[in-house]
Amino acid sequence: MFSSKEEFKNVFLKRLEMMYGKRFEESTVRDQYNTLGNMVREYISQHWIQTNERNRAKKQKQVYYLSIEFLLGRLLGSNLLNLGIRDIVEEGLRELGIDLQEIEESEADAGLGNGGLGRLAACFLDSLASLNLPGHGCGIRYKHGLFDQKIVDGYQVELPEQWLRHGNVWEVRKEDLAVEVSFWGKVEMSHINGRLTFRHVDSEKVMAVPYDMPVIGYDTKTINTLRLWSAEPAKTFPIHKSVMQYKRETEAISEFLYPDDTHDEGKILRLKQQYFLVAASVGSIVRAHRRQYGHLYELHKHVAIHVNDTHPVLAIPELMRILLDEEGMSWEDAWHITTNTISYTNHTTLSEALEKWPIHIFRPLLPRIYMIVEEINERFCRELWNRYPGEWKRIEEMAIIAHDLVKMAHLAIVGSYSVNGVAKLHSDILKKREMRLFHEFWPQKFNNKTNGITHRRWLLKANPQLSKLIINTIGDKWIKEPEKLIDLKPYVGDASFQQELAKVKRQRKTMLARRIYEQTGVVVNESSIFDVQVKRLHAYKRQLLNVLHIMYLYNRLKEDSSFSIYPRTFIFGAKASPGYYYAKRIIKLINSLADKVNSDRQTNEQLKVIFLENYRVSLAEEIFPAADVSEQISTASKEASGTGNMKFMMNGAITLGTLDGANIEILEAVGEENIFIFGLTAEEVLRYYQNGGYRSHEYYHYDKRIKQVVDQLVNGFFPDAHDHFEPIYDSLLMQNDEYFVLRDFASYVEAQERVGKEYQQREKWLRMSTVNIAHSGYFSSDRTIQEYANGIWKIQPIDG
Ligand SMILES: *Cc1c(COP(=O)(O)O)cnc(C)c1O
Repeated sequence: MFSSKEEFKNVFLKRLEMMYGKRFEESTVRDQYNTLGNMVREYISQHWIQTNERNRAKKQKQVYYLSIEFLLGRLLGSNLLNLGIRDIVEEGLRELGIDLQEIEESEADAGLGNGGLGRLAACFLDSLASLNLPGHGCGIRYKHGLFDQKIVDGYQVELPEQWLRHGNVWEVRKEDLAVEVSFWGKVEMSHINGRLTFRHVDSEKVMAVPYDMPVIGYDTKTINTLRLWSAEPAKTFPIHKSVMQYKRETEAISEFLYPDDTHDEGKILRLKQQYFLVAASVGSIVRAHRRQYGHLYELHKHVAIHVNDTHPVLAIPELMRILLDEEGMSWEDAWHITTNTISYTNHTTLSEALEKWPIHIFRPLLPRIYMIVEEINERFCRELWNRYPGEWKRIEEMAIIAHDLVKMAHLAIVGSYSVNGVAKLHSDILKKREMRLFHEFWPQKFNNKTNGITHRRWLLKANPQLSKLIINTIGDKWIKEPEKLIDLKPYVGDASFQQELAKVKRQRKTMLARRIYEQTGVVVNESSIFDVQVKRLHAYKRQLLNVLHIMYLYNRLKEDSSFSIYPRTFIFGAKASPGYYYAKRIIKLINSLADKVNSDRQTNEQLKVIFLENYRVSLAEEIFPAADVSEQISTASKEASGTGNMKFMMNGAITLGTLDGANIEILEAVGEENIFIFGLTAEEVLRYYQNGGYRSHEYYHYDKRIKQVVDQLVNGFFPDAHDHFEPIYDSLLMQNDEYFVLRDFASYVEAQERVGKEYQQREKWLRMSTVNIAHSGYFSSDRTIQEYANGIWKIQPIDG
């Protein structure tokens, strides 16, 4: 479209005047942003249409990735980059006196997700399109994404997020493709032509209206689609409810993202959201397929439906319902098609996160779906009885419905052809422990797909300085083939490369320091070690361990005048779920510690603590490039994979971590001399849980350092905290420290000492940093998606 910046400028100015009826000189940043967004959309519209036409014409298998979350972040910058027009646009705008970066920063993050799970879905979309694979996202168009976090007096305050306030240039509303979704009511059975048939009657209808967003691949013609569903009143209103109430309840379905990471939310609205997503998505997938093929008997040969965690698992009974009730298929045919269409990713083994719905909530809301789940369960239990006659205990443990609960993970395993974990360790724990009985029954269903991140957003876009250095050193092949980053290996000891790498890191630290000053008013030492822990706040992620270590350092600096450390800046970013009171106390603790440490003239040359509020994708893009140390310190066995760890590694930070999730695979990639590992292994942790034997008191009494910092939580050391840290103190001593914070403390301190020492060996550190970057290509989501495409979905790239 624009092959030169002159051409771009002309089109841009004309378009801006047309859209806003004003001259460029009078335009606002938002006008400019919208103009640019519209130009991009117009630019890609032909390719978008062609991608869809080509998919239909070639009759190739397509995948639909169903996810209750898509944590996209900002889209203008990555779209320009993927289209290869970012430089022309930037230069053209500069000549008009406009800063592209300022325009990009005016875009609100699309924050339709909580953390890792939602961000994974977003990275997968980028990789699917960039690999020319026919794969589309299906999600919910929440009016409000994850809450905005403000820190007031050290406490988290949540504000409603409003990403749609100024509209969304990337979406296209497609009212003609709306799907009706039914709730409540009852099921009528009757015999028609000797066949038992089911009718869902007296139901309440909701209209699901799709908003399509283009997913633009890097240097490809493929434009896939992210279809986000919005809930609106249907044409027919229910008679037993006031119009107002019906409208309010309907719109509530797509109003808010649940701000909960790992706890099973036992709310009717949450189940409504899940079925809404599934019914709308499967409905539109099936409608398109029927239109092209006339029947659904070969659906599984042309369509793969992937469910991201258990939230969209009702896709299984929903597809069964369509095949049975609408298509009139036999149970056997419908089951064959369904179980060859659906695949499932497990994201966690934390028991509080395994979804279980009480029947008394499920059955009235979704009466026909519940009947089908019951039938699936009965047939499955019969199959188990034949295989394990008399083993009623085993069968009870594996049943989908037991003790008045519907176990969504069991439904997912029974109704899909593939079950994958998200890192080697996690997949092993699934097979050997959490889902052991299912693995015994269906060993071939289980597999591993280690998570990945899109190196285009997290390196090329977020860190242009490092990208440029890499391109100058080994060329740009790695952008399309990230494993080519290994070509950096010969440069690990190269003096001039090291010098440039140090310069880039320093530049990014300066930039982050500026951001820190803007947001907190604290001046940090740019040559200190930037030691970063950014992720959701959770007890198992152990931000507390990090905090206790900082308190220990502070105490030593205060008490022992011969003790000194290389200057450190500890940086935190984390949102806590609004109802997770313990996590919110930890946020307060970090902020109280920051106040204390940063204002102490005796120590603040060596020690600073920063809490950056409102951690989100766009802020993350500023943080990862500036990090020296990547804190990945979860209790071993608890973090299924982690993906933040990969973003840090790719930007040259060194991991300080436990043997958990993908940290283990990072260790395997870089070797033990290029990572700092500490703490219990997963096996040791699981053995403790099984056999007991851990007494946190002992560690408290025998390690003076521990006793001191734990006492400081409640002895007035934090004058502004009153009794606010008592729950934290209690968790460590009264509740026997479920996450082994005190158990791993000494090991962590020792690892941190090594970090401090090795950082000062500049040449060695830069060598480690380079090794990490060089081996990070494996953790690109391009590799992950290629494995899903070959191993699970059996889809091929579309070319030409
Ligand atoms: C990558 C990412 C996460 C996941 O981080 P983990 O350290 O793997 O938990 C969460 N939030 C945002 C904004 C991210 O970019």
